[in-house]
Amino acid sequence: MSSEDHTPSNLVSTFATDVFNADARKRYLSSQVFADLEETIQHGKTITADMAAAIAHGMKMWAMDKGATHFTHWFQPLTGATAEKHDSFLTPDFKGGILAQFSGKELIQGEPDASSFPSGGLRATFEARGYTAWDPTSPAFVVNPDTDRAVLCIPCVFMGYHGEALDEKTPLLRSQAALTKQLERVGKLFEVKGDGRPYATLGPEQEYFLIDTRFYIQRPDIVMCGRSLFGNRPARHQQMEDHYFGRIKPRILAFMADVDRRLWRLGVPAKTRHNEVSPAQFELAPVFEEQNLSVDHNMLIMHTLQDTAAEHGFACLLHEKPFAGVNGSGKHNNWSIVGNDGKNWFTPGQTPHDNAKFLFVLTGVIKAVDTYAPLIRASVATAGNDHRLGANEAPPAIMSVYLGEQLDAIINQIDTGCSLRSMTGNAACDDVIEIGVDALPKIPRDVSDRNRTSPFAFTGNKFEFRAVGSSQSCAGPNTILNLVMAAALDEMVTEMERRLADTPPQKDDTGHSREFHDALKAVLREEIRQHKRVVFSGDGYSAEWQEEAARRGLPNLRTTPEALPALISPETVKLFSHYGVLSEREVYSRHEVYTHAYSTTVAMEGGCALDLARTFVLPAALKFESMLAEVVEAAKKMGRDAGPRLKAYNQVADLVERLYGAMDTLETSLNERPNEIVANMAVLRAIIDKLEMLAPDHDWPFPCYGELFFSSTHIK
Ligand code: ADP
Ligand code: MG
Repeated sequence: MSSEDHTPSNLVSTFATDVFNADARKRYLSSQVFADLEETIQHGKTITADMAAAIAHGMKMWAMDKGATHFTHWFQPLTGATAEKHDSFLTPDFKGGILAQFSGKELIQGEPDASSFPSGGLRATFEARGYTAWDPTSPAFVVNPDTDRAVLCIPCVFMGYHGEALDEKTPLLRSQAALTKQLERVGKLFEVKGDGRPYATLGPEQEYFLIDTRFYIQRPDIVMCGRSLFGNRPARHQQMEDHYFGRIKPRILAFMADVDRRLWRLGVPAKTRHNEVSPAQFELAPVFEEQNLSVDHNMLIMHTLQDTAAEHGFACLLHEKPFAGVNGSGKHNNWSIVGNDGKNWFTPGQTPHDNAKFLFVLTGVIKAVDTYAPLIRASVATAGNDHRLGANEAPPAIMSVYLGEQLDAIINQIDTGCSLRSMTGNAACDDVIEIGVDALPKIPRDVSDRNRTSPFAFTGNKFEFRAVGSSQSCAGPNTILNLVMAAALDEMVTEMERRLADTPPQKDDTGHSREFHDALKAVLREEIRQHKRVVFSGDGYSAEWQEEAARRGLPNLRTTPEALPALISPETVKLFSHYGVLSEREVYSRHEVYTHAYSTTVAMEGGCALDLARTFVLPAALKFESMLAEVVEAAKKMGRDAGPRLKAYNQVADLVERLYGAMDTLETSLNERPNEIVANMAVLRAIIDKLEMLAPDHDWPFPCYGELFFSSTHIK
């Protein structure tokens, strides 16, 4: 590391050097093959066998120049993680020598044994074949370049013998196609100039914890479950509000700098780094990118954080709630759309024409979130996120949309049909500026977010979906966002087309006919009337909102078992298949995989809690109890008042008895429904946490939260 060039100019010249991007492709492919491949990437042109062979050859030469000895199809099965199986380029020439080979077929398709990946019954073991297929829209890259661990990674989708999706990426790509198609219709409807392909953008902010390895390895609960199963918040935690955006301590900064340097080489545009609210909690945010690439890059960000942490003597915890009593970690999923004009359509426009399109897509979001709230909720339902959603620092499980005061007022005007007025000043009625019957309200540019408690907040030119869990792949939630937006826009465009079917195009100076304006106003009003209950600008963390949301009839699906059934409701199944995102079988299999993952996680954590209670906590508690018994006896012998000592003894003896009881109850529930396990773990934890508070620190079997929190910044 020390021999490397750390100058800023080096940053520019090393950015994406380990990526087979357009630059590298230009250098390693013939100009014809290069041009053909660009066509494939941009417009989905079919890859011929000759083309594949030529690309494979160029890619191999490039990768070998970076020291790669192996290649792997890099894919994202339904485990939520990435998968890889390395093959070396090495092929015997049968004359006693070897060749380095990589064929077109090896590039395009792989056949890993799929029998051990979750498939939710889509694939019986006797037809275990699964296929990985190259996704040329996410460029290949080399990890660990110039070392003997250098590997060429080829981003892929993963599917079964009959083309059924076995991964997170296939439905994402399909949902992107569905959204693109509807956005194209919107572009046509509003006569937007430009022949670009519309697409979604994503910028996921990644939160994480760093714990000193020496303490981490003494916490088997964290090692095994990714989160602490026991432990009390120390007297000093996050109440001083001194960690958020606080000075970054040298050891942390060294880690962050190393992470950034590695990510930049991989072409991941890591941009922002800072301390988060809880002690030992941090965040990394990249610059947003085209959604598919950003999803892959987020996986690389998570890997890089963990690998780099290990080298710096840290464990990086990506779990949604590693510690009770302080903030958990999320992944703020910043999502937007770019139209055929290459512009962000969630940027409020300055012309009436732009405003109309802006209000149209904005209304699409309101309609989508209200109509499909349970499905959106289901897309972030995991065992880990259950500890976070609805806790006092994270958005509630109720899906609502935050627009901000100014947009709220505009939505209300459209709804009430009251005169449309300029929103640049204050919204009071005497401030009304009529801007003509045909025009929609003017929208000020700075409609930025001031609300941090909404799960789905408009932040000026994008929506921030804040309920995504920190350890989750972004693929699932973004698949759902694309899909529900496609469905909402589809209905709205269809309704516009129906209303305009036999109107002659008599355009006015806004570029549209009067009939167009009338239809638009009617459609927007209709949708807003029907769906504005989902718009909420108040404090999403408050108890009042829970009540208000219930009054509005908004679903509040607090836990994963409550949320997942939305995946297989008849409407959802129809929605998935209508837009070609998942077939009925694929939806059911996914539901099964996620349900199984949830119950497996809960049962594993329950088993872990029981083991640790028995073999770590109980011995310490018994030792403490007998020490107190001796103290009471000794005091009596010495003729002292044993009262206070006896009280302490009784308190601990009671807890020990309850501990036995709670362990038994948990044990018998381990084969039962996850709810029982969760409830019984909570009872066990309360007893153990009480014991931790009373027992001598040096006899307690685990490092306490205080050590875990402050060791990472205070120890060299
Ligand atoms: P914050 O939300 O903390 O105020 P920013 O608004 O600057 O911070 O951005 C947060 C994230 O949103 C960044 O990852 C950024 O790249 C991303 N982002 C910004 N614009 C867009 C967009 N048009 N589409 C998707 N993500 C975006
Ligand atoms: Mg943000």
